[in-house]
Amino acid sequence: MTYQKPLDLPMKLTIHRGAKEIGGTCIELQSASSKILIDFGLPLVDENKEQFDSKKIKKYTKEDLIQQGVLPQIKGLYKNEDPLIDAILLSHPHQDHYGLLSFVNPEIPVYMSMGCKELIEASYYFGQTDYDFKNVVTIKAWRPFQKGDFTITPYLVDHSGFDALAFLIESEDKKIFYSGDFRGHGRKSVLFKNIIKNPPDNIDYLILEGSMIGRDEGAYETEEDIENELTMLFNKDNLVFMACSSQNIDRLVSIYRACVKSNRIFVIDPYTAFILDKLKKISKNIPQFNWGEHIKVFFVPNTYTKKMAEDKSLFKFKSAKITYSEIQELRNRLVIKDSYTTRNIFAKKKDMSNSVLIYSMWEGYLPDVKPFWDKHNIPIIKVHSSGHAYIEELKQFVKAIKPKYIIPNHTFYPEKYREYFDGNIKLIKDKETVEL
Ligand SMILES: [Zn+2]
Repeated sequence: MTYQKPLDLPMKLTIHRGAKEIGGTCIELQSASSKILIDFGLPLVDENKEQFDSKKIKKYTKEDLIQQGVLPQIKGLYKNEDPLIDAILLSHPHQDHYGLLSFVNPEIPVYMSMGCKELIEASYYFGQTDYDFKNVVTIKAWRPFQKGDFTITPYLVDHSGFDALAFLIESEDKKIFYSGDFRGHGRKSVLFKNIIKNPPDNIDYLILEGSMIGRDEGAYETEEDIENELTMLFNKDNLVFMACSSQNIDRLVSIYRACVKSNRIFVIDPYTAFILDKLKKISKNIPQFNWGEHIKVFFVPNTYTKKMAEDKSLFKFKSAKITYSEIQELRNRLVIKDSYTTRNIFAKKKDMSNSVLIYSMWEGYLPDVKPFWDKHNIPIIKVHSSGHAYIEELKQFVKAIKPKYIIPNHTFYPEKYREYFDGNIKLIKDKETVEL
């Protein structure tokens, strides 16, 4: 039998979530005979824009969560249904892009970068996510692959999420570029420059993240600025606590490099050492526990360390172990990665004098920790740059790609796109299906 080309039906796009919020990203593309999803994230806010209670997803059934609008209503996506989705593409390992995957029928293949896979696997290992890998396909940047009617080309992008991808998606007559989360001022800013210099051409629709739209940008800082600022701060004579994410690899690199320049020792916890170790096969530039005099591991007695001790993966890091008495001896030469347990050990031993907290992560988490440091009269210094493109970078990006239409996504202010970008802005509501 000869292959019969299906009728030329237009491609359809549905934004299930993320048209007017940051978090819970999920986009569906449908052609004549294929259906794919891009990202399947956990919401960050609820319908009142209050912080989303992520415990909800363990408390309720799938049906309840669909009814509450937490899970999108998508036929043939979930467990115990005949699968009607050909593939899910994941842009990067941030929960707001993959956090609902545990509900998905494991027969549906999920495509992601190697770094994304490693970090989601680590999150599963430590019980931070319920997503157990069954049908994962790892993909490489700039290597196109075919999924049904779609040709998909992943682009490696600069973002605070590791090994993050954007996607060029082509069907017979349409070209779509999904930006994912990205920026132009991180350690991989060269990727941003390359896209600007050599953009994908003839893009019909650019689905563009806008996390920074409508936010007070503060000072425009690059990851290099962060490294310089940290070096300057580390050159003082005090004990430094460092609040940062163990999965923001760019930032860990900046901290480590500033430690080398200022002759300090970066004291990480076993969890962070584990994450870095997992990623060493992907890049040789990621600091490792066994790199010598500027990095040590403090065996903080928390649940992660306990888990690693139980299955003996902790043993690996023994050669780099630093004890509490060694910490006391070297005190003002250290940069200690902050965690709930770590800071409470120091507080209990009344060992907090002449110290400072450098807060190097998203401002939204600061209210959780501020009372502790205030109570101990420890100054908090903020040193951070966003994981997302500044407005100037977004403008450069749009100017280079010259899409026929821009579709706002991953933003609280879709209507503001009209103020910033020339060209056609196509506003699509959550759950609305449009023909492209
Ligand atoms: Zn992200």
